[in-house]
Amino acid sequence: MHRLSIGELRQGLLKKEFTAVELTRVFLDRIEKNKHLNAFITVCADMALDAAKQSDCRIAEGRAEELEGIPLAIKDMFLTKGIRTTAGSKMLNNFIPPYESTVSGKLLEAGAVCLGKTNMDEFAMGSTNLTSYYGGVINPWSSEKKLVSGGSSGGSAAAVAMSLCAAATGSDTGGSVRQPAAFCGIVGLKPTYGRCSRYGMVAFASSLDQAGVMARSVRDAAIVLRVISGYDNRDSTSAKEVVPDFEASVGQSVRGLRVGVPREYRVDGMSEEIVRFWEKGAAFLRDAGAEIVEVSLPYTKYALPTYYVIAPSEASSNLARYDGVRYGFRANGISLNEMYENTRSDGFGEEVKRRILIGTYVLSAGYYGAYYIRALKVRKLIRQDFASAFQKVDILLVPTTPSSAFAIGEEPKDPVTMYLNDVFTVPASIAGLPGISVPIGLDEQQRPLGLQLITTHFNEELLIRVGSVLEEAACFPCLKDVV
Ligand code: GLN
Repeated sequence: MHRLSIGELRQGLLKKEFTAVELTRVFLDRIEKNKHLNAFITVCADMALDAAKQSDCRIAEGRAEELEGIPLAIKDMFLTKGIRTTAGSKMLNNFIPPYESTVSGKLLEAGAVCLGKTNMDEFAMGSTNLTSYYGGVINPWSSEKKLVSGGSSGGSAAAVAMSLCAAATGSDTGGSVRQPAAFCGIVGLKPTYGRCSRYGMVAFASSLDQAGVMARSVRDAAIVLRVISGYDNRDSTSAKEVVPDFEASVGQSVRGLRVGVPREYRVDGMSEEIVRFWEKGAAFLRDAGAEIVEVSLPYTKYALPTYYVIAPSEASSNLARYDGVRYGFRANGISLNEMYENTRSDGFGEEVKRRILIGTYVLSAGYYGAYYIRALKVRKLIRQDFASAFQKVDILLVPTTPSSAFAIGEEPKDPVTMYLNDVFTVPASIAGLPGISVPIGLDEQQRPLGLQLITTHFNEELLIRVGSVLEEAACFPCLKDVV
Protein backbone atom coordinates (compact mmCIF):
# COMPACT_ATOMS: atom_id res chain seq x y z
CA MET A 1 0.00 0.00 0.00
CA HIS A 2 2.99 2.30 0.18
CA ARG A 3 2.92 3.18 -3.55
CA LEU A 4 -0.73 4.21 -3.58
CA SER A 5 -1.66 7.79 -4.36
CA ILE A 6 -3.01 10.09 -1.67
CA GLY A 7 -6.50 9.63 -3.11
CA GLU A 8 -6.19 5.84 -2.94
CA LEU A 9 -4.77 5.94 0.57
CA ARG A 10 -7.65 8.18 1.63
CA GLN A 11 -10.17 5.73 0.14
CA GLY A 12 -8.47 2.76 1.79
CA LEU A 13 -8.56 4.47 5.17
CA LEU A 14 -12.17 5.62 4.90
CA LYS A 15 -13.32 2.18 3.71
CA LYS A 16 -11.33 0.71 6.61
CA GLU A 17 -9.28 -1.55 4.34
CA PHE A 18 -6.37 -0.63 6.59
CA THR A 19 -5.92 1.62 9.60
CA ALA A 20 -3.80 4.75 9.84
CA VAL A 21 -1.64 2.96 12.40
CA GLU A 22 -1.00 0.08 9.97
CA LEU A 23 -0.25 2.53 7.20
CA THR A 24 2.15 4.51 9.38
CA ARG A 25 3.94 1.29 10.38
CA VAL A 26 4.44 0.36 6.71
CA PHE A 27 6.07 3.72 6.01
CA LEU A 28 8.19 3.68 9.19
CA ASP A 29 9.39 0.23 8.21
CA ARG A 30 10.37 1.40 4.78
CA ILE A 31 12.20 4.38 6.25
CA GLU A 32 14.16 1.99 8.47
CA LYS A 33 15.00 -0.31 5.55
CA ASN A 34 16.18 2.63 3.45
CA LYS A 35 18.24 4.34 6.12
CA HIS A 36 21.27 4.24 3.81
CA LEU A 37 19.62 6.90 1.61
CA ASN A 38 19.98 9.34 4.54
CA ALA A 39 16.72 11.02 3.51
CA PHE A 40 15.67 11.84 7.08
CA ILE A 41 17.49 13.82 9.75
CA THR A 42 14.90 12.96 12.39
CA VAL A 43 12.29 10.18 12.33
CA CYS A 44 9.46 10.63 14.83
CA ALA A 45 8.09 7.10 15.03
CA ASP A 46 6.32 7.38 18.41
CA MET A 47 4.70 10.72 17.64
CA ALA A 48 3.63 9.45 14.22
CA LEU A 49 2.01 6.34 15.69
CA ASP A 50 0.22 8.45 18.31
CA ALA A 51 -1.08 10.80 15.62
CA ALA A 52 -2.17 7.82 13.51
CA LYS A 53 -4.10 6.43 16.48
CA GLN A 54 -5.95 9.71 16.78
CA SER A 55 -6.64 9.66 13.04
CA ASP A 56 -8.14 6.19 13.40
CA CYS A 57 -10.46 7.52 16.14
CA ARG A 58 -11.58 10.43 13.97
CA ILE A 59 -12.16 8.11 11.02
CA ALA A 60 -14.22 5.76 13.23
CA GLU A 61 -16.29 8.74 14.43
CA GLY A 62 -16.82 10.02 10.88
CA ARG A 63 -14.79 13.16 11.56
CA ALA A 64 -11.99 12.57 9.04
CA GLU A 65 -10.22 15.68 7.75
CA GLU A 66 -8.83 16.14 4.26
CA LEU A 67 -5.51 14.36 4.83
CA GLU A 68 -6.64 12.18 7.71
CA GLY A 69 -4.07 9.47 8.45
CA ILE A 70 -1.89 10.24 5.42
CA PRO A 71 1.81 9.85 6.34
CA LEU A 72 3.89 12.80 5.15
CA ALA A 73 7.43 14.04 5.64
CA ILE A 74 8.39 17.62 6.45
CA LYS A 75 11.56 19.29 5.24
CA ASP A 76 13.72 20.20 8.21
CA MET A 77 13.33 23.86 7.25
CA PHE A 78 9.83 24.03 8.82
CA LEU A 79 9.65 24.50 12.59
CA THR A 80 7.80 21.66 14.24
CA LYS A 81 6.77 22.15 17.83
CA GLY A 82 8.61 19.72 20.10
CA ILE A 83 10.45 18.07 17.20
CA ARG A 84 14.08 19.00 16.56
CA THR A 85 14.45 21.30 13.56
CA THR A 86 17.98 21.73 12.23
CA ALA A 87 17.73 23.30 8.74
CA GLY A 88 20.57 20.88 7.93
CA SER A 89 22.97 22.85 10.13
CA LYS A 90 25.18 22.15 13.12
CA MET A 91 24.03 25.58 14.29
CA LEU A 92 20.57 24.19 15.07
CA ASN A 93 21.61 20.65 15.97
CA ASN A 94 20.02 20.95 19.41
CA PHE A 95 17.11 23.23 18.53
CA ILE A 96 13.63 22.10 19.53
CA PRO A 97 11.15 24.75 18.40
CA PRO A 98 8.54 25.99 20.88
CA TYR A 99 6.04 26.62 18.07
CA GLU A 100 4.81 25.18 14.78
CA SER A 101 5.22 26.64 11.29
CA THR A 102 1.97 27.56 9.58
CA VAL A 103 2.54 25.12 6.71
CA SER A 104 3.27 22.08 8.89
CA GLY A 105 0.51 23.18 11.28
CA LYS A 106 -2.02 23.21 8.44
CA LEU A 107 -0.98 19.69 7.45
CA LEU A 108 -1.39 18.44 11.01
CA GLU A 109 -4.77 20.16 11.33
CA ALA A 110 -5.82 18.40 8.12
CA GLY A 111 -5.08 15.09 9.87
CA ALA A 112 -1.74 14.27 8.21
CA VAL A 113 0.73 12.12 10.14
CA CYS A 114 4.26 13.57 10.31
CA LEU A 115 6.76 10.72 9.88
CA GLY A 116 9.83 12.89 10.36
CA LYS A 117 12.03 15.71 9.16
CA THR A 118 13.88 15.37 5.89
CA ASN A 119 17.50 16.06 5.12
CA MET A 120 18.48 19.20 3.22
CA ASP A 121 21.38 21.41 2.21
CA GLU A 122 22.46 23.58 5.13
CA PHE A 123 20.00 26.49 5.44
CA ALA A 124 18.71 25.44 1.98
CA MET A 125 21.89 26.62 0.27
CA GLY A 126 22.89 24.14 -2.38
CA SER A 127 21.82 21.97 -5.28
CA THR A 128 23.16 18.58 -4.16
CA ASN A 129 22.21 18.06 -0.52
CA LEU A 130 25.95 17.63 0.07
CA THR A 131 26.19 20.82 2.15
CA SER A 132 24.06 19.22 4.91
CA TYR A 133 25.80 18.83 8.27
CA TYR A 134 24.06 15.43 8.40
CA GLY A 135 25.66 14.15 5.19
CA GLY A 136 24.43 13.85 1.63
CA VAL A 137 21.27 12.08 0.48
CA ILE A 138 21.54 9.22 -1.99
CA ASN A 139 19.25 9.44 -4.99
CA PRO A 140 17.22 6.19 -5.05
CA TRP A 141 17.54 6.03 -8.84
CA SER A 142 21.22 5.24 -8.66
CA SER A 143 22.16 1.83 -9.89
CA GLU A 144 25.95 1.45 -10.04
CA LYS A 145 27.05 4.95 -9.10
CA LYS A 146 25.73 6.85 -6.12
CA LEU A 147 23.95 9.92 -7.46
CA VAL A 148 23.10 13.15 -5.68
CA SER A 149 19.43 13.69 -4.91
CA GLY A 150 19.64 17.36 -5.81
CA GLY A 151 18.98 20.13 -3.36
CA SER A 152 18.17 21.73 -1.25
CA SER A 153 15.03 19.63 -0.62
CA GLY A 154 17.01 16.46 -1.47
CA GLY A 155 15.76 14.43 1.49
CA SER A 156 12.12 15.11 0.66
CA ALA A 157 12.72 14.26 -3.01
CA ALA A 158 14.43 10.94 -2.23
CA ALA A 159 11.83 10.04 0.40
CA VAL A 160 8.94 10.66 -2.00
CA ALA A 161 10.64 8.85 -4.91
CA MET A 162 11.32 5.80 -2.73
CA SER A 163 7.82 5.93 -1.19
CA LEU A 164 9.08 6.52 2.31
CA CYS A 165 6.12 8.92 2.66
CA ALA A 166 3.02 9.74 0.61
CA ALA A 167 4.27 13.27 -0.13
CA ALA A 168 6.53 15.85 1.48
CA THR A 169 7.02 19.55 1.91
CA GLY A 170 9.95 21.37 0.37
CA SER A 171 11.04 24.97 0.21
CA ASP A 172 12.14 26.76 -2.91
CA THR A 173 14.23 29.91 -2.96
CA GLY A 174 15.87 29.45 -6.34
CA GLY A 175 14.82 25.96 -7.36
CA SER A 176 15.06 23.78 -4.27
CA VAL A 177 11.72 22.06 -4.86
CA ARG A 178 11.88 21.79 -8.65
CA GLN A 179 15.52 20.73 -9.12
CA PRO A 180 15.60 17.78 -6.66
CA ALA A 181 12.17 16.73 -7.96
CA ALA A 182 13.63 16.55 -11.48
CA PHE A 183 16.71 14.64 -10.25
CA CYS A 184 14.59 12.08 -8.37
CA GLY A 185 11.81 11.61 -10.96
CA ILE A 186 8.95 13.14 -8.97
CA VAL A 187 6.66 16.17 -9.20
CA GLY A 188 7.84 19.39 -7.49
CA LEU A 189 5.51 22.37 -7.24
CA LYS A 190 6.70 25.80 -6.16
CA PRO A 191 3.67 28.05 -5.71
CA THR A 192 3.58 31.80 -6.29
CA TYR A 193 5.54 33.83 -3.75
CA GLY A 194 3.01 34.63 -1.03
CA ARG A 195 0.68 31.68 -1.71
CA CYS A 196 1.85 29.88 1.45
CA SER A 197 2.84 31.46 4.72
CA ARG A 198 6.52 31.64 5.58
CA TYR A 199 5.73 31.86 9.30
CA GLY A 200 7.92 29.34 11.10
CA MET A 201 10.04 28.54 8.08
CA VAL A 202 13.75 28.98 8.75
CA ALA A 203 14.62 32.09 6.74
CA PHE A 204 17.17 31.96 3.92
CA ALA A 205 16.28 34.79 1.49
CA SER A 206 12.97 36.25 2.58
CA SER A 207 11.95 37.87 -0.71
CA LEU A 208 12.38 34.54 -2.52
CA ASP A 209 11.61 31.75 -0.01
CA GLN A 210 8.41 29.84 -0.65
CA ALA A 211 7.07 26.53 0.66
CA GLY A 212 6.30 23.88 -1.93
CA VAL A 213 5.12 20.32 -2.43
CA MET A 214 7.00 17.21 -3.53
CA ALA A 215 4.74 14.35 -4.64
CA ARG A 216 4.58 11.31 -6.89
CA SER A 217 1.87 12.77 -9.10
CA VAL A 218 0.45 16.14 -10.10
CA ARG A 219 -2.85 15.20 -8.45
CA ASP A 220 -1.16 14.46 -5.12
CA ALA A 221 0.71 17.77 -5.33
CA ALA A 222 -2.59 19.58 -5.99
CA ILE A 223 -4.23 17.97 -2.94
CA VAL A 224 -1.41 18.95 -0.59
CA LEU A 225 -1.08 22.44 -2.09
CA ARG A 226 -4.67 23.27 -1.23
CA VAL A 227 -4.08 22.37 2.41
CA ILE A 228 -0.91 24.44 2.86
CA SER A 229 -2.03 27.55 0.95
CA GLY A 230 -3.75 30.66 2.24
CA TYR A 231 -3.35 34.00 3.92
CA ASP A 232 -1.76 34.12 7.35
CA ASN A 233 -1.70 37.30 9.40
CA ARG A 234 1.61 36.20 10.94
CA ASP A 235 3.36 36.59 7.57
CA SER A 236 2.94 40.06 6.09
CA THR A 237 4.00 38.77 2.65
CA SER A 238 1.37 36.04 2.49
CA ALA A 239 -1.31 36.90 -0.03
CA LYS A 240 -5.04 37.38 0.51
CA GLU A 241 -5.92 35.18 -2.44
CA VAL A 242 -8.75 32.69 -2.69
CA VAL A 243 -7.48 29.11 -2.48
CA PRO A 244 -9.16 27.14 -5.26
CA ASP A 245 -9.73 23.40 -5.39
CA PHE A 246 -6.51 22.72 -7.27
CA GLU A 247 -7.35 19.05 -7.74
CA ALA A 248 -10.26 19.97 -10.02
CA SER A 249 -7.75 21.18 -12.63
CA VAL A 250 -6.13 17.75 -13.03
CA GLY A 251 -6.74 16.32 -16.49
CA GLN A 252 -8.56 19.37 -17.85
CA SER A 253 -8.04 19.96 -21.56
CA VAL A 254 -5.20 22.16 -22.81
CA ARG A 255 -6.90 22.71 -26.17
CA GLY A 256 -6.42 26.27 -27.39
CA LEU A 257 -3.78 27.15 -24.79
CA ARG A 258 -0.71 28.99 -25.97
CA VAL A 259 2.50 27.45 -24.64
CA GLY A 260 5.66 29.55 -24.91
CA VAL A 261 9.10 28.10 -25.54
CA PRO A 262 11.72 30.76 -24.72
CA ARG A 263 14.76 30.55 -26.96
CA GLU A 264 17.09 31.88 -24.24
CA TYR A 265 16.66 28.64 -22.28
CA ARG A 266 18.91 26.87 -24.78
CA VAL A 267 22.20 27.40 -23.00
CA ASP A 268 25.71 26.24 -23.80
CA GLY A 269 26.66 22.99 -22.19
CA MET A 270 23.15 21.66 -21.57
CA SER A 271 22.68 18.00 -22.34
CA GLU A 272 21.36 17.11 -25.81
CA GLU A 273 19.02 14.64 -24.19
CA ILE A 274 17.23 17.32 -22.20
CA VAL A 275 16.82 19.30 -25.43
CA ARG A 276 15.21 16.25 -27.05
CA PHE A 277 12.84 15.75 -24.12
CA TRP A 278 11.97 19.44 -24.22
CA GLU A 279 10.95 19.07 -27.87
CA LYS A 280 9.07 15.90 -27.01
CA GLY A 281 7.19 17.68 -24.21
CA ALA A 282 6.21 20.46 -26.62
CA ALA A 283 5.02 17.82 -29.10
CA PHE A 284 2.88 16.15 -26.39
CA LEU A 285 1.17 19.44 -25.66
CA ARG A 286 0.72 20.22 -29.37
CA ASP A 287 -0.89 16.79 -29.85
CA ALA A 288 -3.23 17.59 -26.97
CA GLY A 289 -4.42 20.72 -28.79
CA ALA A 290 -2.14 23.45 -27.44
CA GLU A 291 -0.32 25.88 -29.67
CA ILE A 292 3.45 26.11 -29.26
CA VAL A 293 4.83 29.62 -29.66
CA GLU A 294 8.46 30.68 -29.59
CA VAL A 295 9.00 33.59 -27.20
CA SER A 296 11.96 35.63 -26.02
CA LEU A 297 13.01 36.43 -22.47
CA PRO A 298 16.09 38.54 -23.19
CA TYR A 299 17.08 39.18 -19.56
CA THR A 300 17.27 35.47 -18.69
CA LYS A 301 21.05 35.52 -18.79
CA TYR A 302 21.14 38.01 -15.93
CA ALA A 303 18.91 35.93 -13.66
CA LEU A 304 21.67 33.81 -12.15
CA PRO A 305 24.03 36.69 -11.24
CA THR A 306 21.04 38.66 -9.92
CA TYR A 307 19.99 35.74 -7.73
CA TYR A 308 23.50 35.24 -6.41
CA VAL A 309 23.58 38.88 -5.28
CA ILE A 310 20.07 39.08 -3.78
CA ALA A 311 19.92 35.66 -2.09
CA PRO A 312 23.29 35.92 -0.25
CA SER A 313 22.48 39.52 0.79
CA GLU A 314 19.24 38.49 2.43
CA ALA A 315 20.90 35.37 3.85
CA SER A 316 23.71 37.37 5.47
CA SER A 317 21.12 39.49 7.22
CA ASN A 318 18.81 36.60 8.17
CA LEU A 319 21.63 34.46 9.51
CA ALA A 320 22.95 37.22 11.75
CA ARG A 321 20.54 35.90 14.38
CA TYR A 322 22.69 32.80 14.98
CA ASP A 323 25.01 34.30 17.53
CA GLY A 324 25.16 31.57 20.17
CA VAL A 325 23.20 33.66 22.65
CA ARG A 326 19.52 32.91 22.33
CA TYR A 327 19.36 29.38 20.95
CA GLY A 328 21.24 26.83 18.92
CA PHE A 329 24.92 25.97 18.96
CA ARG A 330 27.33 27.93 21.14
CA ALA A 331 31.12 27.71 21.26
CA ASN A 332 33.18 29.04 24.15
CA GLY A 333 35.29 32.17 24.04
CA ILE A 334 37.03 34.33 26.60
CA SER A 335 35.20 37.46 25.48
CA LEU A 336 31.77 38.05 23.97
CA ASN A 337 33.27 38.79 20.57
CA GLU A 338 35.35 35.65 20.67
CA MET A 339 32.29 33.61 21.59
CA TYR A 340 30.44 35.06 18.56
CA GLU A 341 33.39 34.36 16.33
CA ASN A 342 33.89 30.80 17.51
CA THR A 343 30.18 30.03 17.38
CA ARG A 344 29.77 31.23 13.81
CA SER A 345 33.07 29.70 12.63
CA ASP A 346 32.25 26.26 14.05
CA GLY A 347 28.48 26.30 13.64
CA PHE A 348 28.20 27.16 9.95
CA GLY A 349 29.47 25.05 7.06
CA GLU A 350 31.62 26.25 4.20
CA GLU A 351 28.86 27.11 1.70
CA VAL A 352 26.86 29.06 4.28
CA LYS A 353 29.95 31.03 5.28
CA ARG A 354 30.68 31.77 1.62
CA ARG A 355 27.18 33.19 1.17
CA ILE A 356 27.40 35.26 4.35
CA LEU A 357 30.70 36.72 3.16
CA ILE A 358 29.31 37.52 -0.31
CA GLY A 359 26.17 39.04 1.17
CA THR A 360 28.01 41.13 3.73
CA TYR A 361 30.39 42.42 1.07
CA VAL A 362 27.58 43.26 -1.35
CA LEU A 363 25.64 45.13 1.34
CA SER A 364 28.64 47.07 2.62
CA ALA A 365 28.64 50.87 2.30
CA GLY A 366 30.79 51.20 -0.81
CA TYR A 367 29.20 48.38 -2.79
CA TYR A 368 25.52 48.49 -1.91
CA GLY A 369 24.64 50.73 -4.87
CA ALA A 370 26.95 48.98 -7.31
CA TYR A 371 25.69 45.46 -6.60
CA TYR A 372 22.58 45.21 -4.49
CA ILE A 373 20.60 48.14 -5.90
CA ARG A 374 21.62 47.18 -9.41
CA ALA A 375 20.49 43.58 -8.80
CA LEU A 376 17.09 44.88 -7.67
CA LYS A 377 16.80 46.88 -10.90
CA VAL A 378 17.63 43.82 -12.99
CA ARG A 379 15.09 41.87 -10.95
CA LYS A 380 12.45 44.30 -12.16
CA LEU A 381 13.55 43.84 -15.77
CA ILE A 382 13.30 40.06 -15.40
CA ARG A 383 9.78 40.42 -14.03
CA GLN A 384 8.86 42.65 -16.96
CA ASP A 385 10.35 40.10 -19.36
CA PHE A 386 7.93 37.48 -18.06
CA ALA A 387 5.04 39.92 -18.06
CA SER A 388 5.51 40.70 -21.74
CA ALA A 389 5.90 37.00 -22.61
CA PHE A 390 2.61 36.31 -20.80
CA GLN A 391 0.85 38.79 -23.07
CA LYS A 392 1.55 36.37 -25.90
CA VAL A 393 1.30 33.00 -24.16
CA ASP A 394 -0.49 31.41 -21.21
CA ILE A 395 2.33 29.29 -19.88
CA LEU A 396 6.02 28.56 -20.51
CA LEU A 397 7.60 25.15 -21.05
CA VAL A 398 11.32 24.85 -20.22
CA PRO A 399 13.73 22.25 -18.85
CA THR A 400 14.04 22.11 -15.07
CA THR A 401 17.80 21.49 -15.07
CA PRO A 402 20.54 21.56 -17.70
CA SER A 403 21.53 17.96 -16.90
CA SER A 404 20.43 14.89 -14.97
CA ALA A 405 21.73 14.08 -11.48
CA PHE A 406 25.49 13.77 -11.20
CA ALA A 407 27.38 11.13 -9.26
CA ILE A 408 28.47 11.91 -5.72
CA GLY A 409 32.14 12.85 -5.95
CA GLU A 410 31.74 13.97 -9.56
CA GLU A 411 29.83 17.16 -8.74
CA PRO A 412 31.37 20.44 -9.92
CA LYS A 413 33.96 21.48 -7.38
CA ASP A 414 34.01 25.21 -7.95
CA PRO A 415 30.98 27.05 -6.60
CA VAL A 416 30.29 29.09 -9.74
CA THR A 417 29.92 25.99 -11.93
CA MET A 418 27.66 24.52 -9.27
CA TYR A 419 25.51 27.65 -9.31
CA LEU A 420 24.94 27.11 -13.06
CA ASN A 421 22.72 24.21 -12.10
CA ASP A 422 20.07 26.72 -11.05
CA VAL A 423 20.03 28.49 -14.40
CA PHE A 424 16.48 27.38 -15.36
CA THR A 425 14.87 27.63 -11.94
CA VAL A 426 16.01 31.00 -10.59
CA PRO A 427 14.25 33.24 -13.17
CA ALA A 428 10.77 32.23 -11.94
CA SER A 429 11.92 32.66 -8.32
CA ILE A 430 13.20 36.16 -9.00
CA ALA A 431 9.85 37.08 -10.56
CA GLY A 432 7.88 35.33 -7.76
CA LEU A 433 6.11 33.16 -10.34
CA PRO A 434 4.76 29.64 -9.72
CA GLY A 435 6.50 26.68 -11.36
CA ILE A 436 6.14 22.93 -11.47
CA SER A 437 8.62 20.24 -12.48
CA VAL A 438 7.13 17.10 -14.00
CA PRO A 439 9.22 13.98 -14.73
CA ILE A 440 9.47 13.54 -18.49
CA GLY A 441 11.77 10.56 -19.04
CA LEU A 442 15.07 8.84 -18.37
CA ASP A 443 18.30 9.69 -20.12
CA GLU A 444 20.64 7.06 -21.56
CA GLN A 445 22.14 6.45 -18.14
CA GLN A 446 18.65 5.78 -16.74
CA ARG A 447 18.61 9.04 -14.78
CA PRO A 448 15.38 11.06 -14.52
CA LEU A 449 14.88 14.36 -16.32
CA GLY A 450 12.15 16.91 -15.68
CA LEU A 451 10.38 19.64 -17.60
CA GLN A 452 9.23 22.82 -15.92
CA LEU A 453 6.09 24.85 -16.49
CA ILE A 454 5.94 28.49 -15.37
CA THR A 455 2.88 30.72 -15.44
CA THR A 456 1.43 33.97 -14.10
CA HIS A 457 1.09 34.84 -10.41
CA PHE A 458 -1.51 32.79 -8.49
CA ASN A 459 -2.35 30.67 -11.52
CA GLU A 460 -1.25 27.33 -10.04
CA GLU A 461 -4.44 25.81 -11.45
CA LEU A 462 -2.99 26.22 -14.93
CA LEU A 463 0.28 24.58 -13.86
CA ILE A 464 -1.69 21.63 -12.57
CA ARG A 465 -3.84 21.42 -15.67
CA VAL A 466 -0.95 21.46 -18.13
CA GLY A 467 1.33 19.48 -15.80
CA SER A 468 -1.18 16.64 -15.57
CA VAL A 469 -1.48 16.45 -19.36
CA LEU A 470 2.30 16.32 -19.69
CA GLU A 471 2.49 13.69 -16.96
CA GLU A 472 -0.09 11.50 -18.65
CA ALA A 473 1.66 11.72 -22.04
CA ALA A 474 5.14 11.10 -20.61
CA CYS A 475 4.24 7.76 -18.95
CA PHE A 476 7.23 8.17 -16.68
CA PRO A 477 8.26 4.78 -15.28
CA CYS A 478 7.75 3.97 -11.64
CA LEU A 479 11.01 3.66 -9.68
CA LYS A 480 10.31 0.04 -8.75
CA ASP A 481 10.06 -0.93 -12.45
CA VAL A 482 13.53 0.39 -13.11
CA VAL A 483 15.77 -0.11 -10.08
N1 GLN B 1 20.46 25.97 -5.41
C1 GLN B 1 20.04 27.27 -5.08
C2 GLN B 1 20.95 27.85 -4.01
O1 GLN B 1 21.87 27.21 -3.67
C3 GLN B 1 18.60 27.28 -4.65
C4 GLN B 1 18.39 26.86 -3.27
C5 GLN B 1 16.96 26.98 -2.82
O2 GLN B 1 16.04 27.12 -3.62
N2 GLN B 1 16.78 26.94 -1.52
O3 GLN B 1 20.76 28.92 -3.53
